[in-house]
Formats: sequence, structure tokens, C-alpha cells
Amino acid sequence: MELELGGKACIVTGASRGIGLATSVALCAEGARVLLVARDLGRLAEAAERCEAAGEPGSVEQMSADVAEAGAAKRIVAAAQERLGGVDVLVNNAGTTNTRPLEDLSDADWQRQWELNVMGPMRLMQTAAPLMAERGDGRIVNVSSSAGKRPGLNNAAYSVTKSAQLSLSRVFADAWAARGVLVNAVTPGPIATPLWTGEGGLAEQAASASGGDRESAMAAMAERIPLGRLGTAEEVAATIVLLCSRRAAFVTGAAWSVDGGYVPLFI
Ligand code: NDP
Repeated sequence: MELELGGKACIVTGASRGIGLATSVALCAEGARVLLVARDLGRLAEAAERCEAAGEPGSVEQMSADVAEAGAAKRIVAAAQERLGGVDVLVNNAGTTNTRPLEDLSDADWQRQWELNVMGPMRLMQTAAPLMAERGDGRIVNVSSSAGKRPGLNNAAYSVTKSAQLSLSRVFADAWAARGVLVNAVTPGPIATPLWTGEGGLAEQAASASGGDRESAMAAMAERIPLGRLGTAEEVAATIVLLCSRRAAFVTGAAWSVDGGYVPLFI
């Protein structure tokens, strides 16, 4: 299937590992040019090497930014214009969570998740969508979560703001559809990225809560998923890249589950 992503200028946030890195590699493999955004420059440099190996020489740019900061969106979009010559695709993927019971969540925890999952993506869409509309064409994919469709108690601030991110995605889809900018979300279920499998990640946190080990925590999670396993970053990336492509030309305002059947809903 020809995705027609060759030469497209893409911004991917949270691009240094996990789903964002897999998405950036896949976009580069399709011939796109990608601005990789994350905070840690060392990890970004490693990610850039992997993307460059998958794509055309000179197709990868990198930038350190915290997307939750108020001025970040303008800086990121300006960098894409300067270094890639515009913005055709935006993937709002940066995000994180940890295990924290409802009663332990502070106002600062709630605020941080709000800035990360709502205000950061909102400002990036607000800045990038008009530029896409000028060309009459653009694609935005917001990486929400299965927790946005069915709230979990692992971290309610994460679940609630991931739900808000889905609403935000729909609002921007409605606002920009007539001008050729298509906005969609994906809702991954548990995916074996560093967020789960890394040192101090969700698997270790679940293990310490249950008094078991990391492997049994992962196995217990897998048992709750109809497909019987956690997903891979590449599986989520494939769906994101399809939504970024011409092949998804009649899809906007959607929130596609990529969760192995984890959330028992058909919307
Ligand atoms: P990882 O922890 O593996 O990667 C997160 C990426 O986001 C890193 O590149 C990290 O780099 C970057 N990042 C985190 N915070 C910020 C920030 N404030 N500003 C800029 N970059 C940031 O996570 P995943 O790949 O697993 O998750 C990616 C997205 O998918 C997230 O939005 C997450 O909520 C969502 N998701 C993941 C699921 C899973 O099970 N893995 C399930 C459902 C949704 P750095 O720290 O250097 O900034």
C-alpha cells in the first residue's frame, strides 16, 4: 500500500523512545522528514541515529523541549518550519504516568498531567493547524490511552486528562475538517515500551504493590488482555502512520483503539 508520505514534514513529540520512536522510524522508512522532540538530548541523539538508518540521509532533526511548557509549541513549530520547511504531520505522543492511588494525588500531580496531555497538545495543534490549512492538507494524531476510554485507578489524573485529550482531539477535528486538516486519536492499551518495562516502570511499580516480581506483574497484565499479551510500540506506530497517510483520507474525529481488545467498547 502506497502511503504517500515521501518528503512530508512531520513533528513527533516523545520521539526518543517507545511509541514515539517507533512512529518516527516508521515515518522515516516511508520517506518522510521528522523533527524528533523530547527533553533528554542524549536519548534524542540515539533515536536520531535509528531514524536516519531507516530513512533518507538528512531527513531527521532533533529538538529538546518540554511540551508541557507554555512556550514550547511555538518553538517546536518554528523549528519545523525552519528546518523542515513546514508542517504536514503532527503526532502528539509525549506522555507518561506512574502508579499513584487517588488519595495520594496532589494538585500538582493533576496539574502536571493536564499540562502534558491537554495544554501541550492543544497549543501544538493551535499553532500547527493554521499552517496545514494554508496548504489545504494536514494530519494530526493524538496519542491518548485506553485509560481515556475506560478510566483506571492506577493514576486517575492520567485517565481523566487522557479522556480530555480525546475530547480535545474531536474538537480540533470538527474545527479544521473543512480546511483539509484531519485530526484523530489512538488509544493504546498496555504496550511493552520503557514506560512499562523500563527501570522503575509500571511493571516494577505493579510488582512492588503486589509483593510479586516484575515478570509476574507483566504476566498478570497480559492475562487481562483478550489477545493475551502486551502490544508492541511498532504495532501502535503502524496505526499512527496509517492515520498520517493519504490512505486515511476519510477518517477524522476518530479514536482508534490499539489495545488487543482490552477496552470492551466498539467506539
Ligand atoms: P515512554 O516512556 O517509553 O516514552 C515517552 C516519551 O515521551 C519519551 O521520548 C520521553 O522523553 C517523552 N516525554 C515525556 N514527557 C515529556 C515532556 N514533558 N515533553 C517532551 N517529551 C516528553 O512512553 P510510551 O512510548 O509508552 O508512551 C507514549 C505515549 O503513549 C504517551 O502519551 C502514553 O501516555 C501513551 N500510552 C502508552 C501506553 C503504554 O502502555 N506504553 C498505553 C497507553 C498510552 P524525555 O523523558 O526525554 O522527555
